[in-house]
Amino acid sequence: MGDGKGNCDRSRNDGKERKGINERRRVPHSILCPIKRVRLFLERMTGKMRIGVDIGGTNTKIGLVQDGKILRRRTIPTRQDPEQAIGELANALKEISLGIEIELIGIGCCGLIDHKEGIVRTPPNLPKWHNLKLKERLEKILNLKVFVGNDVNACALGEYLYGLGKGKRNLFVLTIGTGVGGGIIADGRLILGANHSAGEFGHTIIFPEGRRCRCGNRGCLEAYIGQENIRRMAKRIIGKDLTPKEVAIRAKEGEKKAIAVIERVGYYLGLGLVNVCHLLDPEIIIIGGGISGMGRRLLKKTEETIKERIMPLPKRRLEIRLSQLGPSAGILGATKFPEFAI
Ligand SMILES: [Zn+2]
Repeated sequence: MGDGKGNCDRSRNDGKERKGINERRRVPHSILCPIKRVRLFLERMTGKMRIGVDIGGTNTKIGLVQDGKILRRRTIPTRQDPEQAIGELANALKEISLGIEIELIGIGCCGLIDHKEGIVRTPPNLPKWHNLKLKERLEKILNLKVFVGNDVNACALGEYLYGLGKGKRNLFVLTIGTGVGGGIIADGRLILGANHSAGEFGHTIIFPEGRRCRCGNRGCLEAYIGQENIRRMAKRIIGKDLTPKEVAIRAKEGEKKAIAVIERVGYYLGLGLVNVCHLLDPEIIIIGGGISGMGRRLLKKTEETIKERIMPLPKRRLEIRLSQLGPSAGILGATKFPEFAI
């Protein structure tokens, strides 16, 4: 998983105008006098800045963003109590933007989000946040424009504009962690749906009478490949309570039972993605989130399953890749909510 640097390097080479600016920046610092260094710093600091925020169930990541590049980062714990959470988030936002003119703040938050009103609804890991008017509350405190959307939609935008989806028009971006989420870019547009709930990939059904999901339904994909279910699978196959990361380490060391767990996850994920391909026909599927640490082996089994089950087409255009932006995708994408998700 990358940290966004690779992406920034790529974006630097886009267009003659930007290349020109960056050629100036590439002058080695050692041969610049202090005044010139300050001038360069100010030049960077006076451009249009946005702040991107990625609110997850455990941590909230904040980034000061300019031209698709994260210049400063902060991570704070996500509080269950909404009042405490808003207070701490507002303080962190003030701190990161100290002395800098901020154009707007974009926030990707877990759960079902009303993109238009900026209201958080039913976040599974933050039950006390239900119906929290995050946009309105932060705008009042900060006196800045705030845009709030779903965190996986933010990742999808990040990948589309700055990651592996750059230059493509049809993407499906999924994240696998505690939950399993999806974001859809179709014909260059982020798809929100009538209720702003499009892309709930984790709750698509892969077994009609399957295991009970935390949403209440049966046989959802998340009930098979969400973090908790991988732990359960590891217990059954390996006989130990292991995190997905621990399973991945054992698989790397060649442990057959650990490999079997990852291949099972890849198989279920492949089944879910066959449905996505038949519905949306994406040219690239990008897998992100903590579990994608299972890496190449997961990808291989997922690809194999898709190949076996997908409707054959002559020369089908379809790539399946692991995210290279990693956690930066959500921060970068959230800053683009005003253009794509209102
Ligand atoms: Zn479900």
